[in-house]
Amino acid sequence: MNTRIAFINVSIFDGTGAPAYYGEVLVECKRIIEVARAPDRVAREGARVIDGRGRFLMPGMTEAHTHFSWNDQPSLAAIQFMPPEEHMLWCVRVAKRYLDMGWTSAIGAAAAKPRLDVVLRNAINAGEFPGPRYLAGSQEITTVGALGDNTLPHMKFEELSFGSVCCGPEEIRKSARTFIKYGVDHLKVNLSGEYIAGLPAEMSPFAEDEVAMLAQEAKRYGKRMAAHARSSESVKQCVRHGIEMVYHASFADDEALDMLEAAKDKHFVAPGIGWLIRTTYHAAEYGITESVATTMGYKRELEIASETLRKMHKRGIRILPGGDYGFAWMPHGTNANDLQYFVDYIGMTPTEALRAATSFGGQIMQMPNELGQLKAGFLADILLIDGNPLDNLALLTDPACINLVMKDGIIYKDCTMTMPEDAALHLLGADFPLQEEGVRGAIAAEAA
Ligand SMILES: [Zn+2]
Repeated sequence: MNTRIAFINVSIFDGTGAPAYYGEVLVECKRIIEVARAPDRVAREGARVIDGRGRFLMPGMTEAHTHFSWNDQPSLAAIQFMPPEEHMLWCVRVAKRYLDMGWTSAIGAAAAKPRLDVVLRNAINAGEFPGPRYLAGSQEITTVGALGDNTLPHMKFEELSFGSVCCGPEEIRKSARTFIKYGVDHLKVNLSGEYIAGLPAEMSPFAEDEVAMLAQEAKRYGKRMAAHARSSESVKQCVRHGIEMVYHASFADDEALDMLEAAKDKHFVAPGIGWLIRTTYHAAEYGITESVATTMGYKRELEIASETLRKMHKRGIRILPGGDYGFAWMPHGTNANDLQYFVDYIGMTPTEALRAATSFGGQIMQMPNELGQLKAGFLADILLIDGNPLDNLALLTDPACINLVMKDGIIYKDCTMTMPEDAALHLLGADFPLQEEGVRGAIAAEAA
């Protein structure tokens, strides 16, 4: 069986931030085994040869802050009102959407129900459904009245909440151990408020001993941690307690930035800036006009976050794309909008934005030496793009421009077959396996 694929005649962006160059890439089984810079060539004997005709070849992208169980609705309550059975199927469909849009890896930043992320991750890994390589999060561990506590004074049903509502260290301990029992990769905690949930973003509702308990339990079981952390104090709690994945960080003051910078090899920041931008400027259809967003506090937060993140970027703190897509005004699959937002609001170059999506992605997935770059020995997570994203990052938001998606050496999306006659897809070898049988079935079902 032939499992060699050669990409020839492509412009190679290797993910490191080095300029793109013309060349060829050879994949065998799940890994890249050779990369050649023109005029050198890879050994293409026995390989299926895909002629990119000058197209752009780049590593698959990593979404650092996903909520697959958010259901593209205009409210937080709508997420929780979806029954678990439909909710699981929703997550499965969304996972495919991410893969088709070039997100070959993703971090689950919290599931809306206890086991959605874990079950999804296991199904993807077992080849039952197509989706990004995935790290599963817990529900949002939160506290009374904070983001994720959706109970009402007269309806104190915990099922109303998409978070796990805890008060005091012992309840945190129980929640942490419960999610660890379910098999999460990391624990997510909501260390700051959020305007749409009624608690100001600059508030930090957790006491120090509660955060310490979470960190202690995570450490005991060898789990990572992620935090919703908009306030400056919550960012400091992340650094003090070793919470590696810091989401938002809008209001980090100079002291918080100093702390983050001193530990920048450990922490990742996924600001989810798309949420601030789209809620401020693109949610009018759903009742959040610019003036409503201003009253809520989002416009001010966007201005402050933009300044904070510019400083953070200059200090060399790793900032990654993605975050909080899955609302009506920012549906799943449009996540690559973040890349242009990084340029416009954080001052990155397009190359830096693409590096953040690729090689930094390999780092946050804890596979820095085998994921996120086009390099011999790395896993073959590869995208073929029609056009040059470095000239126009919006190409990565257009499904028609994402011609081919490969994960682990398996092609999950392939539009090269429908390229015009002269497009040069040569089949030199025999019998290339598109993918595992289970995945093939799932794709056929989705297309039907
Ligand atoms: Zn989030």
